[in-house]
Amino acid sequence: MAEETKKVLTYKNRNLFDVLGEDEIKKAYEYADGYRAFLDAGKTEREVVAEAIRQAEAAGFRPIADGDISIENADWYVESDKLKPGDRVYKSVGGKALFLAVIGEVSPRDGANIAGAHVDSPRLDLKQLPLYEDGEMALFKTHYYGGVKKYQWVTLPLALHGIVIRGDGETVEVTIGEDGDEPVFFVSDLLPHLGKDQNKKTLGEAFTGEHLNILIGTRPSGGEKDTDRFKTTVLELLNEKYGIEEEDFLSAELEAVPAGRARDAGFDRSLILAYGHDDRSCVYAELRAILELGTPKKTAVCILTDKEEIGSEGVTGSQSAAFDSFMGWLTGGLCFVARSFERSFCISADVCNAFDPNYPEVSEKNNAAKLNHGVGIMKFTGSGGKSGSSDASAETVARLRRLFAENGVQWQMAELGKVDQGGGGTIAKYMANRNIATIDAGVPVISMHAPWETVSKLDCYMTYKGIAALYGSKD
Ligand code: MN
Ligand code: MN
Repeated sequence: MAEETKKVLTYKNRNLFDVLGEDEIKKAYEYADGYRAFLDAGKTEREVVAEAIRQAEAAGFRPIADGDISIENADWYVESDKLKPGDRVYKSVGGKALFLAVIGEVSPRDGANIAGAHVDSPRLDLKQLPLYEDGEMALFKTHYYGGVKKYQWVTLPLALHGIVIRGDGETVEVTIGEDGDEPVFFVSDLLPHLGKDQNKKTLGEAFTGEHLNILIGTRPSGGEKDTDRFKTTVLELLNEKYGIEEEDFLSAELEAVPAGRARDAGFDRSLILAYGHDDRSCVYAELRAILELGTPKKTAVCILTDKEEIGSEGVTGSQSAAFDSFMGWLTGGLCFVARSFERSFCISADVCNAFDPNYPEVSEKNNAAKLNHGVGIMKFTGSGGKSGSSDASAETVARLRRLFAENGVQWQMAELGKVDQGGGGTIAKYMANRNIATIDAGVPVISMHAPWETVSKLDCYMTYKGIAALYGSKD
């Protein structure tokens, strides 16, 4: 009898492979194929936004137009023929952030169901004057972006993605190192034979930011008497291919990212190894959910912002007024936005860390997310005594719990490591600061922020189902 009672009263989170039927597992694997293709199509914030717009337009979304927010239009919900229930609109923020919405049956002034993910990932940015030569080699200086463990970025193939805006105002897109026959680039490391001094340093000190210089060429231009011969060769090749000169680097955004495609991992192909799961696993979940959505009860909003990895600052970050302005568009004026926010609900869709058997000591097992156990919900992030976190209310957790239960979405509680082990943040607090009930939920990741991160296909699929449940919600 005690056993019986225990079964009924005890909470147990199960492995999805023991829960889902073959059909659903197959669906999850098919979903993962689409996700891998999405990862390959976008390895920078700009590329992700461009690919999202491409898919959105194919699914009937149109850019929100100036006419949609005219003064005459302020009471659009009653009178306007511009924005109506079921309309599908988007707004790009400089090609680096994106908001999408499907207008609901009730006015957006009565709130929206919002999911927000970020499109940027840790990487090595080129400095503004990156090109130099040393030891008869040409190199690029870099400045790392986001929280990286620097030692992970040496001796792996890197591709270069980004844009250069030339002096004449022309924008040149650069992608080199992804196709099989294109050259790649790399940062060198010391051979172990000469690592005596390096080995004595701490992991954080042995690799400095100024060590992360990318080797880009060794063939000289001109004769032995010429100067800057190695640098010149690179400039000649870049000029030939892109029509750029050295000064153009000043107005460029060039990012070195791990070269190569997203791959299935494991004998059973249950995992995906790729660059940028943080946070593109949630970006894709949101995107798929909103593109497949019919006319919801409440307006569904998909936020894809930039700059999360460096604090969500700036025009394209989630702290930007660009989002409030977009909501002003939907509600017919900024004066209605506060009212809308108060009646809204937001999932901050971001990854959490999955329990890693190689490093069990950083987690507290009862509260750590596990691979293949579903969407990881984080009531709070932050560090120390929950510092820097918006710490969702019990009511907010309960609402999400009920929504997921009603829609067959399996989820698990997650925390970012055991107490006082470290910490981090997401866009949740910036949404919550707007007076929107907000909670973090997303895909558990192994090796987060490494050049190659790992996620489970079933968890990715569950996150998509979770966001779809939010968008389809009757509340
Ligand atoms: Mn993230
Ligand atoms: Mn991150």
